Formats: sequence, C-alpha cells, structure tokens
Amino acid sequence: MLAYDALPKSVIVPVGYGRAIRVPAGTLVTIEQTTGYQIVDFIAFRDDDLTEKLSTSHTLASLGRMWPIAGQRLLSNRRTPLLELVEDTAGRHDLTMAACDPWRYEIDFGVSGHRNCSDNFLELFGPLGIERHDLPNPVNFFQKTIYGDDGQVGFLEPSAGPGSHVILRALVPLLLGFSACPMDLNPPRERTPGDIVVRIAASDDQA
Ligand SMILES: [Zn+2]
Repeated sequence: MLAYDALPKSVIVPVGYGRAIRVPAGTLVTIEQTTGYQIVDFIAFRDDDLTEKLSTSHTLASLGRMWPIAGQRLLSNRRTPLLELVEDTAGRHDLTMAACDPWRYEIDFGVSGHRNCSDNFLELFGPLGIERHDLPNPVNFFQKTIYGDDGQVGFLEPSAGPGSHVILRALVPLLLGFSACPMDLNPPRERTPGDIVVRIAASDDQA
C-alpha cells in the first residue's frame, strides 16, 4: 500500500496491526478512533531520503512541550518540519515512549510471541531496506502519560473516545506508518480498544 497513484480514501488499521501509506506534500491525514481509547504509534520518513525521519525527541525539545497542540509542527531528525498538527480533538499524546517490541513483552511482562508495534513497522518498511535500528521512536497518538515530580511515569487510560481524531498535513512527501498498538498488559486497560481508521484527503483544500 505504498503508492501515490491510488491514494486510498481511508484505511482501517486493525487492533494490533500496522499499515503504511505514501503521501505527497499537502495531503491531509486523519487518524480517527472507531470504538475509542486506542493508542496509535505513528512514524514517518521523508520519501526522498529515508535517513531523514520524524523525531519525537527533536520535536519535544524544539516545541518545549511534552506533546504537540494544534498548529504546531512535527520535526525530523534534522529539524525539518515534516507534518503540521492541523486539528486535535483528543488533546493528549506522548512523544517519549519507544514503540512496544518483542523484548518489552518478554522482559517486562514475561510474554513471548506477543504482537508489537516494532515488528509491525519492520514488516511494513523492511522491504524498503529499513532495519529495526532505523525505525524512529513513534509519536504515540492518544497516549496519556503523566510524569511526576519524583520521576515516576504513569500510564493513564486514553481519554480519546469514539470519533476522537487528529488531522495532520504532510509538509513534504512522506512515507507514513501507523500501528494500532496491541499493548494489553500495561495498566490500566479498562476498555477494549478498537480499530483505527486513517482518512486521506489528496489536497489541503478541505482544511
Ligand atoms: Zn505498541
């Protein structure tokens, strides 16, 4: 599904799985909850240079914020603005956590063979020559993390209910990766997460 020629109008990202889309500059990308409370790991590479990619740590530092708000831009590892957060009905995201990977489940939770976002991205981008160490840390859309003055990190239930969404505008041609995070072991998981829908608008004239 990495093609400009037939940009899909929408893509379902099933819980626990990933999808990738190649988009030209100006594309509006909506990431929307279906039944709600699902965290979406999101990564991006420049289409013309896969060594330049969305960087959460560069974005966090340059924004001076733990998560972006509408109107702000997400930066690359060379601080190039790659995407603008156009609209955000959730209001809470995370720029600090690595994608879940096989070792997260095996070492931290004692579970082998669990689906994970890192493998999802590797399946999507591996055919392009991307290896695991090339994957950037994701923007964890809808993830509600809290940071105490004592250094403790807390994971709260996402407050993004059904229909909650973010809209991004691609500022340069990009390869985008989405993973509907399969994490079901980290507290609290009070609700059963659902699929994510990604909607694509070919130009920004609907912004
Ligand atoms: Zn995950």
